[in-house]
Amino acid sequence: MSAATARIDTDALRHNLGQIRNRAPASKIMAVIKANAYGHGMVAIAQALADADSLAVARVEEAIQLREAGIACPIVVLEGICNADELGLAGQHSLETVVHCREQIILMEQNSGTGADLWLKLDTGMNRLGFTAEEFGEAHRRLVNLPSANRDPGLMSHFSSADVAESATSQEQLRKFLETTAGLPGERSLANSAGILNIPASHLEWVRPGLSLYGVSPVAGKTGQDLGLRPVMRFSTWLLATRNLVAGDTVGYGCRWRAVRPTRLGIAACGYGDGYPWALPEGTPLRVNGKHARLAGRVSMDMIAFDLGADSDARIGDEVLLWGETELPVEEIAAAAQSIPYELLCRVSERVSREIVTSQAPIR
Ligand SMILES: *Cc1c(COP(=O)(O)O)cnc(C)c1O
Repeated sequence: MSAATARIDTDALRHNLGQIRNRAPASKIMAVIKANAYGHGMVAIAQALADADSLAVARVEEAIQLREAGIACPIVVLEGICNADELGLAGQHSLETVVHCREQIILMEQNSGTGADLWLKLDTGMNRLGFTAEEFGEAHRRLVNLPSANRDPGLMSHFSSADVAESATSQEQLRKFLETTAGLPGERSLANSAGILNIPASHLEWVRPGLSLYGVSPVAGKTGQDLGLRPVMRFSTWLLATRNLVAGDTVGYGCRWRAVRPTRLGIAACGYGDGYPWALPEGTPLRVNGKHARLAGRVSMDMIAFDLGADSDARIGDEVLLWGETELPVEEIAAAAQSIPYELLCRVSERVSREIVTSQAPIR
């Protein structure tokens, strides 16, 4: 027996990478593994993604962690550098950094750049990071003039609404991106997972999949399976206790759940301290030894309770699946929590052991 475990299937990961390559065959793949690879375990995921053309993280610190684990492939830092220390570290570790504001350009000019390749970011409507179309040409000239620039800066932007099929906003962002970058040298990158799936014209030279690599759909109302993807994470735990209830018994904090008939209750070792959302309502599905069960009462920090049904034969030590198989996709659990699968995956906490499974020989 053990506590909550996230089993990470690296064969599924490589399958998903292959599916993305099939959808964007002319594009290189920048695999996004920020936030501990969406909760899957960054270093193990990086090692399993040896076929990706580059890796992307949000922060310099994450990139250094990868380098220290021996990951030698190109790494892009999506938020770029924020001070001279980070600029030095980016150079030292050969990190490609995104340049999205004037302050970063000034830092680069004062220090002759990082010595590593750069990506220049255009804001096409997300209004989060990036230069406006009016500022973009000037920013580009300044980067090209840095003494240490190796190749022409890459050109990138980010979709705000690519998860919406046939979104006029996405079309406008794509148009603006193509128009502003027209005539500039440098490879272009726009598509996140949803862009890869919904907007083939946005694939360009580089695509940047995150969620889809992990087998999860960025498109509401669709699961990864619907898109030919396989879930990489299987989040499960073990049955810790059972008890028999009579009609009227209540369960858990606030006595919110009440048995309407005699039934068997299961208790499992997993709670919001493991990343199983507190917001999940009673009735949220689980699977105990492959059989359906329903959450009963509030999620506690270390435990959950669920209705097994009166004739359940579940036993202590049985496996309790929280999400990750095709019968229990994280997309469905996220919807029940009124959240998004990104958040549920990211929030699988430190104390949950990641168990890497693969049919391949271990990577050295
Ligand atoms: C996180 C991120 C991605 C990946 O997005 P998904 O929706 O997970 O595919 C791509 N580009 C940027 C700039 C990001 O921040």
